[in-house]
Amino acid sequence: MTTKTNTATAEQHESMFDAVLARLDVAAKIYGLSDDVANILRNPQKQVKVSIPVMMDNGKLEVFEGFRTIHSTILGPSKGGIRYAMDVNDDEVKALSAWMSFKCAVANLPYGGGKGGIKCDPRKMSVGELERLTKAYTTAMADVFGPTKDIPAPDMGTSGREMAWLVDAYNKVHRGNFPGVTTGKPVGLGGSLGRDAATGRGVMVSTLAALKKMNLEAKNVTAAVQGFGNVGSHTARLLNEQGIKICAIGDHTATFWNEKGIDIKAALEFVKTSGGVLKGFTGGVEIKSNELLTSKVDVLVPAALQNVITEEVAHGIQAKLIVEGANGPTTAEADHILQEKGIIVVPDILANGGGVTVSYFEWVQNNYGYYWSEEEVNTKHDASMESAFEHVWNNGQKYKTTMRIGAYITALQKIELGIKAKGNY
Ligand code: GLU
Repeated sequence: MTTKTNTATAEQHESMFDAVLARLDVAAKIYGLSDDVANILRNPQKQVKVSIPVMMDNGKLEVFEGFRTIHSTILGPSKGGIRYAMDVNDDEVKALSAWMSFKCAVANLPYGGGKGGIKCDPRKMSVGELERLTKAYTTAMADVFGPTKDIPAPDMGTSGREMAWLVDAYNKVHRGNFPGVTTGKPVGLGGSLGRDAATGRGVMVSTLAALKKMNLEAKNVTAAVQGFGNVGSHTARLLNEQGIKICAIGDHTATFWNEKGIDIKAALEFVKTSGGVLKGFTGGVEIKSNELLTSKVDVLVPAALQNVITEEVAHGIQAKLIVEGANGPTTAEADHILQEKGIIVVPDILANGGGVTVSYFEWVQNNYGYYWSEEEVNTKHDASMESAFEHVWNNGQKYKTTMRIGAYITALQKIELGIKAKGNY
C-alpha cells in the first residue's frame, strides 16, 4: 500500500459523498488547505428535496422524489446536470454536486457546482409521463434554478428533450424567455452546436494529451470504452477518428471484444435501429461487462456508471492509461492500487469537463443572443481542455501526487482564492 495521508481512504466507502471527502482530505493535506476553507467545502451550501405528484397514463397518481443540491456558488452560479435513475438519492446528488464544483474550477469556468435528480426509471415511462414529471420538477424548483443562480443540464437518463421541457416550464412560471436557465438544450432552442459531442470530445482531447506525456502515438494504441450512451459513443467515435483502435465497447445490455478493432461506424449505425442499445450487435464476440475493464488494451475509458473500478477490478486492469468519462467510476480504495501499478488516471473532474465547458459556451451564447459555428465552439473547447490538462498535470508533478489529487489541488487553489477574496460574515 502506498503512503496513506488520510485514514478515511483505508475504509470501504458506502457513501459516495464520503468518497469525495476522502479525496478532498488527501488533496487538502498535500496542498496545505486551511481548515476553514476545507470546512466550507465539506458541507454543501443548499440541499432541496421535493415530492412530485404526476398523473400517470393509467390514470393513477404517482409521487416521485426530486433532489437538487447546490454544493457551492463561490466562483459563480451553481452548474450541473439532472439525472433520472432509480438509484438517485441525496448522498449521490451531494457527491455529484461537489464534483461539479471541482470540475468547473478545474475547467476554469465562472461557476460553482450543483446536481439534481429524480428517482424514477425513465425507460419504463412514456414520453408524456416524462414531460409531466420534468415540468412538475421544474415548477417545484422554480426558485432554485435561474440563469444567474443555478443552471441545470442533462446527465444520465436526460437529454436535450428534457431541457427543452425544463425551459418551457421555467419560462411559464417566471413569465419571460430565459434560455440561459439550462444548457444542453436542442440546437434551435438556444442550444449550442457541438454540445452533444462535447463530453466525448473532452475525453478524446484528454486522452491525446496524456498519450503525448507517455510518448505514445495514437495510431499504435488500443482502447476499450465502457458505455455507449452520449459520452461513450462520441468518445469511441472520436478516439477512433484519431487512429486509436477500439477493441472493446459495451453498454448495460451487452459488451463486445474484437482484437482487430470494432467498426465504430457500424456500431453507431446499429444503435440507431436497436432503440439505442448494443444488444444484438455482431461486430465482435460477446464478453462480460467486467471483462472489458480488465481487457488487454492500452487505454481504458469507463464512460458509464460510477464505482465500476473497485479494488478487485483495479488488480486486474492491464491498461496503462485510464481516462474517466463517467463521474466517479473509480472507488477511493482502487485509486491506491492503480497508483501502485503505475497506471495514469486522468480523473473525471478533468477528463469529462468538456461537457460543462461547452455548457458554459452555450450559456454565454444565450446571454449574448448570438450563436457561434461548431468549428468556433470546438476550437475554444479544445484549447480550454488542453490548458486544464496542463494545469492539472503540472500540479500532479509539483506536489508529487496523482493526476486525481493534482486536479483536486487545481480546484482548491481557485476556490480558496474565491473564498478568501469574498470574505466572511
Ligand atoms: N452532467 C454533465 C456533467 O456531469 C454536464 C453538466 C453541465 O453541463 O452542467 O458534467
